[in-house]
Amino acid sequence: MEPPEQRIKIAVQKTGRLTDHSIDLLERCGLKVTKSKDQLIRYGENMPIDLLLVRDDDIPGLVSDDVCDLGIVGLNVVEEKRLNRLAEGRPARFKTVYELDFGHCRLSIAGPEEAGYAGLLSLNNTKIATSYTGLLNKFLNENGIDAETVCFSGAVEIAPKLGRADYVCDLVSTGGTLKANGLREFEVLLESEAVVIQTEKPLGEEKQALVDKILQRLDGVLQVRESKYIMLHAPKTALAEIRDLLPGTEAPTILRLDGSDDKVAVHAVCRENVFWETLENLKAAGASSLLVLPVEKMLA
Ligand code: ATP
Ligand code: ZN
Repeated sequence: MEPPEQRIKIAVQKTGRLTDHSIDLLERCGLKVTKSKDQLIRYGENMPIDLLLVRDDDIPGLVSDDVCDLGIVGLNVVEEKRLNRLAEGRPARFKTVYELDFGHCRLSIAGPEEAGYAGLLSLNNTKIATSYTGLLNKFLNENGIDAETVCFSGAVEIAPKLGRADYVCDLVSTGGTLKANGLREFEVLLESEAVVIQTEKPLGEEKQALVDKILQRLDGVLQVRESKYIMLHAPKTALAEIRDLLPGTEAPTILRLDGSDDKVAVHAVCRENVFWETLENLKAAGASSLLVLPVEKMLA
């Protein structure tokens, strides 16, 4: 095994919403990790990459302090920790290098219907409960609003019921939790998704090359999720129309069909999902023998 300083360390959430997806994505990039009993570190068996399993809130700090080279974490946590560190006079030495298109949520201000919210000015002289004090204060300052932020470490949504705050500033995805607590979403402060962050310290040529390779593989992994391989037979006369109907394709392959002068075979990678409606439209345009296959791997 390479010396530890030559191995890439990636901080990943230990248990939570991001855990399974983060590890699954890295495994789809070809990484095999030990199922170690010591759950803090999982060692890469086929690549010099190890995973550190930690609380998501610790990930930006670990990357900034060079304990880890990369981290997978919500943009909400990245931006909050950046502000917290800067406020404490510590540098935030991490940069977002990849958006992973999962863990989508938004940081929003919500409140009870009865609060009679009528725009930002309604927030003046109120109390807002949040565990995102950095992002909330920044928003209030930028909008010239004078409100008190009440720091809650969890279960922010019950603060109004407890009489501890008038509004809350918390993460929302479907809005179900807000609704269950009789709250309505009024303002969106940040749209978030899981991202890869990297230390700003140069990694050295070899390590950076491996990071680049993983990011390129991630491109492929994310693209194939929606992509399909489509095959069909088309009358030559309808080729232009059929081409236009193929969703998200650049240049389809046209093949001669043995024993047929008027028809050709069309093969194409569609970078969008292919729905029944698309197939029905293709058929109506003259296509036949339609076949749609999933795409397993892709490298541009
Ligand atoms: P930890 O124990 O690691 O501190 P946590 O309770 O802070 O965990 P989770 O609830 O697992 O964190 O959420 C992790 C991330 O998932 C959030 O920071 C956010 O980026 C994302 N996320 C997506 N949808 C939601 C949601 N509805 N509520 C909270 N987080 C969400
Ligand atoms: Zn957390």
